[in-house]
Amino acid sequence: MKPFVAQVSLTDGSIAPCHRRVQRRLSDVRDIFGDRAEAERMLAEGDPLVYEVFEIVVPEENGQIIHGTSIIYPGKVGNEYFMTRGHYHEKDEAAEVYFCLQGRGCLLLETKDGETDCKEIAPGISAYAPPGWAHRTINTGDEPFICFYAVDADAGHDYGAVAEGFHLRIMSDGKDFASN
Ligand code: ZN
Repeated sequence: MKPFVAQVSLTDGSIAPCHRRVQRRLSDVRDIFGDRAEAERMLAEGDPLVYEVFEIVVPEENGQIIHGTSIIYPGKVGNEYFMTRGHYHEKDEAAEVYFCLQGRGCLLLETKDGETDCKEIAPGISAYAPPGWAHRTINTGDEPFICFYAVDADAGHDYGAVAEGFHLRIMSDGKDFASN
């Protein structure tokens, strides 16, 4: 393939040209929040956009790097901040890099051994999810939380191992708690 460039908006996170744009509304991710009853109550009134991803697609093969942006919108289900579904990589040895462009939030990580970590992120901060760590990003601010990410194109996503949620939930009242 040939070298290429893309324009990444530092203010809204959009990418041009963008090859793949994925939007996740509350109805798509209602199961990731601790307060399911509150999620259903909110869905009765509307279906807010929780996050979206702009991705520059390259062949999903060893040596290629998928990169793009994730934009998590401000909001909460009860006291739990809007966040991405989160995942392990199917390819255990694949790490991932995040670089914050706008907003405020954190990268929540955990291992299958039960280790948990949470790194606060703001514009200009990079964060590293090492091999073997599940990861999700969480918007703890009141504006869109935008990060640029880069990861092995063949890393794959394993959502099943975090289907019951991450061990730690980040709450706006400061009462973060372990849910499982
Ligand atoms: Zn990842």
